[in-house]
Amino acid sequence: MIELSERVKTMEESATIAMSRKSRELKAEGKDVISLSLGEPDFFTPEFIKDAAKKALDENYTMYTPVPGYDDLRTAICAKFKRDNGLTYTPDQIVVSTGAKQSIANVVMSLIDEGDEVIIPAPYWVSYYEIVKVAGGIPVVVSAGIEQDFKINGKQLEDAITSKTKMMIFSTPCNPTGSVYSKEELRELADVLVKHDRIVTISDEIYEHINFGSKHESLAQFPDIYDRVVTINGVSKAWAMTGWRLGYIGAPKEIASACNKVQGQFTSGTCSITQRAAIAAVEADPIVLKDMVKAFESRRELVLAALAEIPGVKANRPQGAFYVFPDISAFFGKSFNGTTITSADDLSMYILNEGLVALVTGEAFGDANCIRISYAASEEVLTEAMKRIKVALGKLQ
Ligand code: PMP
Ligand code: GLU
Repeated sequence: MIELSERVKTMEESATIAMSRKSRELKAEGKDVISLSLGEPDFFTPEFIKDAAKKALDENYTMYTPVPGYDDLRTAICAKFKRDNGLTYTPDQIVVSTGAKQSIANVVMSLIDEGDEVIIPAPYWVSYYEIVKVAGGIPVVVSAGIEQDFKINGKQLEDAITSKTKMMIFSTPCNPTGSVYSKEELRELADVLVKHDRIVTISDEIYEHINFGSKHESLAQFPDIYDRVVTINGVSKAWAMTGWRLGYIGAPKEIASACNKVQGQFTSGTCSITQRAAIAAVEADPIVLKDMVKAFESRRELVLAALAEIPGVKANRPQGAFYVFPDISAFFGKSFNGTTITSADDLSMYILNEGLVALVTGEAFGDANCIRISYAASEEVLTEAMKRIKVALGKLQ
């Protein structure tokens, strides 16, 4: 008999990935499912990046790479951090990984011991919680509801800190809510963090370029906490490169070298061709993303307008990323055809079965009143999906 480790037995499957798998299976059975479950741009990688990859292959970039990434890529990432975020990093503070997901796992593995507490503002991205658990850490969830635009404040952070707190992990723009922290809001968090020099904060800024309002602000911009912040970024979202697998950190040197060591045992450096292509991406002026960001913004409007027409649904106005995270708790207790909805899990399954639209339950993101809609799909697809959601929800009595 095969006995799996407790570590794996107590690990939840990624809900985003599970839901996209489920919709793929239903499609394979011939069902006309629309998947708004996975946070993945529906654009193709820009030509100039693909050209860099083709050139890399022709130039035989096919060998093992340095574990933390090619030197010229790390130098280009430093220049990107300076250009876009005003952050100063040297190449030895940069570690390139097989996706931002691995970057986060590396940092958590490097810093968290059994019993260390990690503050995770909710709603949070699914994988933070499970990565912390695998490392033996204790996730301490601090909830921010829709009435505070899903953003925590300094007082909430302060109240959650104990002598065991070792880390905080959050994202801005946020997956799943699309909320964006302003400079003042980040300063308020920094004012608390600065008093607790044991706490390292992972600031996940992978959606920085998908921002419809204000300029993106990085937590590491504040000199008094710069040396206790790890900035996460990557090419998956802005550059439509989800399948290429490349993320990176800008971090204090000790943390960067610890991540280098962890990665050297787990995976080594990420794909050589991807790294050459990523140089083209991080060196490019983000202005070229303008049209994509515009497209996301008009999709946001489309989804918000459609949600506003569904009685019982309450949505915030996301400022970034490509998600809306509406509160659907008004449907709890309602039924259709013998199915009673008691939770966001139930509602997402009901919308999948009855409306043939795949969304992700808010429970996976630490908010049991909401569901996540990814609007990284064409306006035509979104229009049809929102129509189906409205009809399905309208049947619940
Ligand atoms: N952080 C957040 C907030 C994300 O939404 C994602 C999406 N997968 C990741 C990290 C991981 O990205 P990557 O594809 O680079 O692993
Ligand atoms: N980050 C994306 C999401 O939240 C991709 C899926 C994943 O990596 O979990 O849907």
